[in-house]
Amino acid sequence: TEAGKRGVRTHTFGEHLRGLSAQRLELESDLRRALEQNEFELHYQPKFNTLSRRLVGAEALLRWRHPRTGLVSPDSFIPALEETGLIVPVGRWVMKQALETALRWRRDHHPTLRIAVNVSARELRQTDFLANCRTLLEPHLADQPIDVELTESQLMENVEHSMHLLEGLRDLGCRVAIDDFGTGYSSLNYLARLPVDDIKIDKSFIALLTQSPETMGLVTNIITLAHSLSLSVVAEGVEEEEQAKLLRLLRCDTLQGYLVGMPLNAEAFEAQLLSVA
Ligand code: C2E
Ligand code: MG
Ligand code: MG
Ligand code: MG
Repeated sequence: TEAGKRGVRTHTFGEHLRGLSAQRLELESDLRRALEQNEFELHYQPKFNTLSRRLVGAEALLRWRHPRTGLVSPDSFIPALEETGLIVPVGRWVMKQALETALRWRRDHHPTLRIAVNVSARELRQTDFLANCRTLLEPHLADQPIDVELTESQLMENVEHSMHLLEGLRDLGCRVAIDDFGTGYSSLNYLARLPVDDIKIDKSFIALLTQSPETMGLVTNIITLAHSLSLSVVAEGVEEEEQAKLLRLLRCDTLQGYLVGMPLNAEAFEAQLLSVA
C-alpha cells in the first residue's frame, strides 16, 4: 500500500480521531501561549482609489509568528480561536493595535488614511463588543480612523442585532464594509436596508472577471446597484492588470489585491507606502 511504501502505519478511525483531538489540544495551548507571548502581529494590505491610484486605506490582517514554523496565516488558526473563545481577547488586541497604528500613520504621514479590521461572528455575539469598541474609539471620535469588515452571513445571523451593532459602530465613526460580498445567500436589496458603507466584491468573482462574461455581467450589476444605493465598492483579490483595467471601466471605487499591494508588516508598509516625501 501507499502507506506501507512510505513506512507509515495505517491508523484506525478511532486512532485518527484521538490523533486529531491531540493535535487540536496542542494548537489550543499554542494559541494561548501566542497571546501571552505576543506572537501575533498585524500585516497591512493597502487599498487604492481606482481612478487616482492614491492610497486610501489598509486592511489589518492577523498573522501568527510561530516560534518553530514561522509566519502562519489566519485561515489555519482563526477557527480554533473562535471555538476556544480566544478570538475575543485576540480581537481586542487587533483593534487596539490597528488603532495605534492608524493614529500614528495619520499623524505622521497620511491624515485621511483609514484602517479596517476584520471581526468574526463570535466577537459580534459578545454582549460587550460594542462597549469595548466604545471605550477604545470614543476618545478618537473626531478622527474616525477605524473601519470594520463583516461578512454577509455574519450580518444575516441576527438582523435585529446587526442593525443595532452597525448603528453603534457608525456612531463611533467606523465605516462598515460587507466582506466577501457575493458568497452568501442574501440579496443586495436586503443588505441595502442595513446601515453599511462599502461592499467588498469577493476575490472569487474578480478571478473570473476577464474570463467569464457571466461573471463580468454580475460584477457590473453589483457595482451599479451598489452605487444606486450610495455604497462604495471595493474589489478584493485584484491580481492582473486586465482586471484592474476592467474594474476602472466599470467604475469600481477601490482596488485591493496582490497586483496593487501585498500585505506588509507595519514597518515595511510605512517604508514603502508612507515615507515617500
Ligand atoms: P478577508 O478579510 O477576506 O481578507 C482577504 C484575504 O485575501 C487575506 O488573506 C489576503 O491576504 C488575501 N488576499 C489579498 N489580496 C489577494 C490577491 O490578490 N489574491 C488572493 N488570492 N488573495 C489575496 P489572509 O490574510 O490569509 O486572511 C484570510 C481571512 O482571515 C480574512 O479574509 C479574514 O476573514 C480573516 N482574518 C484576517 N485577519 C483577521 C482578524 O484580525 N480577525 C478576524 N476575526 N479575522 C481575520
Ligand atoms: Mg476583510
Ligand atoms: Mg474578503
Ligand atoms: Mg475572507
